[in-house]
Formats: sequence, structure tokens, C-alpha cells
Amino acid sequence: MTEFTIAPLKSYRRIVVKIGSALLVDRASGLKNDWLVSLGEDIATLAREGVEVLVVSSGAIALGRTILGLPKKSLKLEESQAAAAVGQIALAKAYADTLGQHDIRAGQILLTLSDTEERRRYLNARATISTLLKLKAIPVINENDTVATSEIRYGDNDRLAARVATMMNADLLILLSDIDGLYTAPPHKDPSAKHLSVIDMITPQIEAMAGAAASELSRGGMKTKLDAGKIANAAGTAMIITTGARLNPLSAIDRGERASLFKADEAPVNAWKTWISGNLEPAGTLTVDDGAVAALHAGKSLLPAGVTNVQGHFERGDTVAVCDLGGREIARGLISYDLSDALLIAGHKSDQISEILGYDARAAMIHRDDLVVRHCQDSEFIRGAQSC
Ligand code: GLU
Repeated sequence: MTEFTIAPLKSYRRIVVKIGSALLVDRASGLKNDWLVSLGEDIATLAREGVEVLVVSSGAIALGRTILGLPKKSLKLEESQAAAAVGQIALAKAYADTLGQHDIRAGQILLTLSDTEERRRYLNARATISTLLKLKAIPVINENDTVATSEIRYGDNDRLAARVATMMNADLLILLSDIDGLYTAPPHKDPSAKHLSVIDMITPQIEAMAGAAASELSRGGMKTKLDAGKIANAAGTAMIITTGARLNPLSAIDRGERASLFKADEAPVNAWKTWISGNLEPAGTLTVDDGAVAALHAGKSLLPAGVTNVQGHFERGDTVAVCDLGGREIARGLISYDLSDALLIAGHKSDQISEILGYDARAAMIHRDDLVVRHCQDSEFIRGAQSC
């Protein structure tokens, strides 16, 4: 059997590269400059070959705490934010200097969750990043840690990078981390675990291989990487996970070093539906009966009659998850009603709605144009962690 090989990186049009903090920052000595220089060489090579590269880089907090000499113990929120403020400025300078060596400009973009979850801000962020690419500058993106508190954070840069990749219609997302891909079980726990070089689809069986979350926040663990993969793959973006713990980590992929490729879905949803399905925090949940599940799979809108339960805090236009009676998320969409009206009309026939609400209302709870249905019955939806 011939071994699977990943297509050369130059065959991709637009690549998002996510860099984990540990690759860039050493707790004691600070920035790992040699490594960054080698990454800069790889990026410059790809740019010369006509590939557009976007960087999503962690490291602000880790670098800031080293620069400020903060103790090893875990930091309070405001200390992390202060560390990020100091670290981010140093990180941005390091990227600007490194890419500048190749006569490439770097442009810093700091995002908060609402910049990608609110449609208008999403379009605005996309326009800015597109313009940077047109100007041949490399966007260097991170979460705006200085203002993001727990309720409004992405929390991990794996999911942020997936959101950026889908927003920018990239054809490849590369997650550089401390592990060279997905194994049939966590390899530090099971020495007989086998490496997987290609994954056609992230099914519950594949997710089970990732093991439990790495930490309470599962930051950087394999689970968040697979969550990122589901967001990316559904939108037509392939994903590679490999280790960044070597110099020239991108050309290492082309040299055939070990990596896992997660293939993009062959029939990706359109740009509008990509935005809906990649929404990271649905504002509510509608539970629907079997008839409604069948109607959604047949491409119909979700009518109030099939809705058996309504939960959450949402307004008209917010993203909600749609779950079947077994609690499995089967679709996600933009709701046509505020919570109070949705509660009143759930379970009622469409011709009764205007009378119940006292105004001439739309018939669908979620119109099919605003609805993304998961067709793979045995798989969880885009984010996976959603329970109804
Ligand atoms: N945004 C954080 C930082 O730059 C890192 C988040 C993550 O590593 O997932 O320090």
C-alpha cells in the first residue's frame, strides 16, 4: 500500500497558520527567535510561490508574563490581560521584524468574539483582512485578550483560527502544536496508539480518539483542534495538524514529516451559511419532533408546529441550535422571532400564528435560507459540544 502524502503547500491558494504559545515563547528566556526566523523563511517562500498566508498567533500572555517577570503561579484575569498588553506589542514587533527581513509587511488584527459572531462586524473584519492580503501584507491575528473576559472570549486560538479560515474562505488551515497529528488514542496514555495521516470526516468515532479535554478549558487540547476541524471542514477548508516543535515547520510538511490531514467537505455550504454554521455560541435551542427533523432533511423551513421546546435568551436574528428529541443537534439557523414570541407560537399551526401574536407574522420559525442542516445523521454538528 502506498503511503498517503499531503499535496504540496504551494498547491493551496490561501492558508491560515495557527501557532501555539509554547512554540514561540520559552518561559525563562522569552521569544524563541530562531524558531520565528525559520517560520518567516517558510512564509516568505510560500508568498513567493503566490500563496496567501494568514497567521493566527498565540503567545501574547506567555511573552508578557516573561517580560514582566510575573510568578509561575496562575494569573488573575486582570494580570493575564496586563501580560497580554505587554506581550502583544512585543509579539507584533517580532513578526514585523521577521517578515520585514523578507521585505514583507505584517498587519496586526486583534479580534473579540463579537467581531465574528455579529454579522456587520464580521463583514467589516473580513474586508480589512482582504485589503491587507490585496496589499500583499501578512495578517497576524490574535484574540484581543486585553479586553476579552470569559463570557466574550473565543478562549482558544484553535477555534479562532478556524473561524478566521472560514471567514476568509481559506482552502487550508494548519494547526502547529506540540503533537504531530491525531492518534487512535492519546499516545501519552496508550503507547500502542496509531497515527492517522488522513481523516475523511470528523465523526463521533474520530472525536472519541481525542480523549478528554486537556484541561478544564480544554485549551489547546486535541478536542478543541477537532472542534476547529469541524468548523473548517464544513466550510470547505481542509485542516492539517502537525508539530511545530522543529525549525521550518511549514516546509517540514512538504518534506513529508508526520502530520494528519482532515479533508474538507466536498459540498461546502455557501458563505452566508458558513457564517451561520460557524457561529461559536448559539443564543438558544429549539427542540423539534421527528416530523420536523424529516422536513429539515428534505430542505424545508422549520415551522412552529414541529417545535416542542424553546430555551435560551435570544432575539430575532440570533443563531439558535435545533435539536431532535434525542438531544442531538441536527441544524443551526437564524431565528425569525424573539424568545417571548417563539414561546407563544411553539407547537402551533402556521395559520394560527397571526392570531396568537396579534400581528401579521412570518410562518417559519427559521426560514430554510437561514438554516444549515447537518446531513450526516450519525455525527454531531459543527461544534460538537452543543447539547440540547
Ligand atoms: N490569545 C492567547 C495569547 O495570545 C492564547 C490563546 C491560546 O493559546 O489558545 O496568549
